[in-house]
Amino acid sequence: MPYCSPLPAAHRMAHRNLLALVLAVTAMFVPATVIAQTQAPAAPTPKEIGDQVRRALAGGVARDKELTVGAGSGSAAAGSATGPSKRPANPRASRQYIRARAAELAGRPPPMEEIVDPARPVGEAHWAYHGINGPQAWGMLKPEYATCATGQRQSPINIDESITLRGPAEAIQFAYGPSNATIVNNGHTVQVDMNGDNGIFVRGSRFHLIQMHFHHPAEEQINFRTYAMVAHLVHRNHLGQLAVVAVLLEPGEANPVIDHLWTYMPLGKDDRVPFPRGSVDLTGLLPKDPLYYQFMGSLTTPPCTEDVLWMVLKQPVTISHEQLRLFAQQFPNNARPVQPINGRVVREAR
Ligand SMILES: [Zn+2]
Repeated sequence: MPYCSPLPAAHRMAHRNLLALVLAVTAMFVPATVIAQTQAPAAPTPKEIGDQVRRALAGGVARDKELTVGAGSGSAAAGSATGPSKRPANPRASRQYIRARAAELAGRPPPMEEIVDPARPVGEAHWAYHGINGPQAWGMLKPEYATCATGQRQSPINIDESITLRGPAEAIQFAYGPSNATIVNNGHTVQVDMNGDNGIFVRGSRFHLIQMHFHHPAEEQINFRTYAMVAHLVHRNHLGQLAVVAVLLEPGEANPVIDHLWTYMPLGKDDRVPFPRGSVDLTGLLPKDPLYYQFMGSLTTPPCTEDVLWMVLKQPVTISHEQLRLFAQQFPNNARPVQPINGRVVREAR
């Protein structure tokens, strides 16, 4: 399939935006008096120039400018060259902000770990699946989680077949193959970070597979039936749009792909285990029947970002009781409750 990208225009835009960012970051760190002098249209007198040089030498402006470059390029040195009054309160948060802002200005999506790994703690308010920080409270834990409470197209949903729409629709073209991968316990689930050329083609776009993870029980329901588990395969295209394929798992025969993944099951939070090279092929996890449900929804974990294309494969695949137990013991319940449909279109496609 052809893969067109408006790169030259985007690059020019990125450079302009990068310049704007450097100016913005400079404004954060260089004293206001220096900014004002830089922007003053009238030519300074020799005495004013001399005063500026003396003030600059006394105030360490040159070092501030080095700091500006360091901060803009993600250097860890931010804050080390300034006085205490200008030191960012939280250097890590500052770097994250600058990185995300740079990506935004350059027209690129922010780094993936900030979208699909909300489990990474960035503040003091930790979300959970039960208790006072459970799903009912997510929208109030942090301003950036507000969509969890106010969003109108949230996931998961119950797929009621009496209201699904049928009609001409395209099949999902899967292109998965043997890949390198790492399995990690992030405290909310077991996640397999994929490192390979895996993708799907759907709705005119190629979506690259970034990671897959599991929920127990399954989050989405079909005709109010809850399945034992679900695998969510998270993809992203060149525009930063997300597409999640859900594979339902129910007890039955042992699953060879799950068997391989569970062989390297992390043993506790933040435990990361790399797989042997090229040993993860998720083709074997897909059901034979290509029928699927398609609708717009959200991430099912904070920040509950919307405009996610969901494709729930109708035919479940099996997983043995032993395989189920190995996951359930660590995650007895990591499923968000179903959310209102609010008139959304749910299509049945194959
Ligand atoms: Zn999920």
